[in-house]
Amino acid sequence: MIEEHLQEMMLQRRQKFMIPASLVATVNVNNSLDHAFLVLTKDRYAKIIVVDNENHYRGQLSLAMITDRLLETERININKLNELTVADVMQTDAPVIQEPFDIEENLHLMIDQSFLAVVNQQDQFCGIVTRRELLKTVSYTLHEFGKKYKVISKKK
Ligand code: AMP
Repeated sequence: MIEEHLQEMMLQRRQKFMIPASLVATVNVNNSLDHAFLVLTKDRYAKIIVVDNENHYRGQLSLAMITDRLLETERININKLNELTVADVMQTDAPVIQEPFDIEENLHLMIDQSFLAVVNQQDQFCGIVTRRELLKTVSYTLHEFGKKYKVISKKK
């Protein structure tokens, strides 16, 4: 459990936790890999979110996932970019959260993920929580805590 005063201070920055879906680069599950390759290259994000036509969250896609699929024994077959869709190569097992303000859960999952997708109860994509924003919050709290509270050691 996170100590309650620390948690309270972190939650003061709760409005910064989630980047809303409207500001997040996404691709459609039915897009050609050609298009997805372009988006990933131009936006320079390591991984992006995949949604369907009803804005349901469907998975995540990285350049490495695409190039891995294009790889043949001794060459990269770029013709496959037009033949395959995002659905053929995306990752579907990345952790997804419903509560962007559960700091305990976020910290635990973000040891292995640079961002977490947030969905509502209908599985619609709401936004992402990034490791960068969470680290900024942790840093802010560690620096500000001593200005607000006096810590007394339990040990004698
Ligand atoms: P950051 O912690 O800001 O470096 O973001 C970590 C990862 O989250 C990036 O490498 C991207 O995969 C993803 N990401 C962050 N911001 C966005 C965004 N606006 N649109 C899409 N993906 C993003």
